Amino acid sequence: MDAKKFGLNDTVEMKKQHPCGTNSWKIIRMGADIRIKCLGCGHSIMIPRNEFAKKMKRVTLPGESES
Ligand SMILES: [Zn+2]
Repeated sequence: MDAKKFGLNDTVEMKKQHPCGTNSWKIIRMGADIRIKCLGCGHSIMIPRNEFAKKMKRVTLPGESES
């Protein structure tokens, strides 16, 4: 069982921190690509879902569940 669970609005930690020094990201869009926003500087990036799953370390703060 290697599938990581993550969802919209979750705050996650990545294996590599952002160059701004923050390692806290919020998932702001879910789809074939995942968009995450750096909580340190507000920069957002979009990465393919499978790549995100590989680079994500853990969910630090679960977001509100989707209704
Ligand atoms: Zn940043």
